[in-house]
Amino acid sequence: MVDGQLRARDVVDERVLRAMERVPRELFVPERLREHAHDDAALPLGSGQTISQPYMVARICEALALTGTERVLDVGTGSGYQAAVLAELAAEVHTIERIGELAERARANLQAAGAGQVRVHVGDGTLGLPEHAPFAAIAVAAAAPALPQTLYEQLVPRGRLVVPVGDRFGQRLQLVVRSPEGPATVSSVPCRFVPLLGVEGFDD
Ligand code: SAH
Repeated sequence: MVDGQLRARDVVDERVLRAMERVPRELFVPERLREHAHDDAALPLGSGQTISQPYMVARICEALALTGTERVLDVGTGSGYQAAVLAELAAEVHTIERIGELAERARANLQAAGAGQVRVHVGDGTLGLPEHAPFAAIAVAAAAPALPQTLYEQLVPRGRLVVPVGDRFGQRLQLVVRSPEGPATVSSVPCRFVPLLGVEGFDD
């Protein structure tokens, strides 16, 4: 997975590649899909949600440029896989999921993968986690119609937010850096994530 899907496609950050080698993705996919755990694809998790394609997880992590000291927020826990990879790259990881049942399963997955220190919250992630802000980095694994302003405001100065922005059918992964002049945005790969539903996302 790491050599064929990530190295072969311009993922160059060695810390990210090593983190993805270490986290057992098979522990985050439903049992009947285990044999597909390392496929180059998103996979269904139930409740209409998916575990992201490994390549997108790597791109998000790489764009966050973590060094190991940061407090990070992961929006859209899903299986917990992205949060587990972030836990390899940063000091403190909070993740938030709107569907209680998925959050519950993610907690168990994280525990099984040895990432029990990740804090799993249930709620509307478009509003961030004011009680734990500010964050050096925020990863959003669901498609937003526009930059979620509240999340941006929960970044430290020079903090980095990665979010797919577009409509429900297609987006581009955006890296947004909090700057004195306002959001500095770099738009990268086309992608397709499930919608971010909530106050600053799409309507349910
Ligand atoms: N990062 C996940 C993939 C998640 S798919 C993984 O590695 O498995 C996107 C997730 O975002 C879904 O589980 C969906 O329920 C959740 N989601 C959508 N809108 C949300 C919101 N406003 N707050 C929190 N989670 C949300």
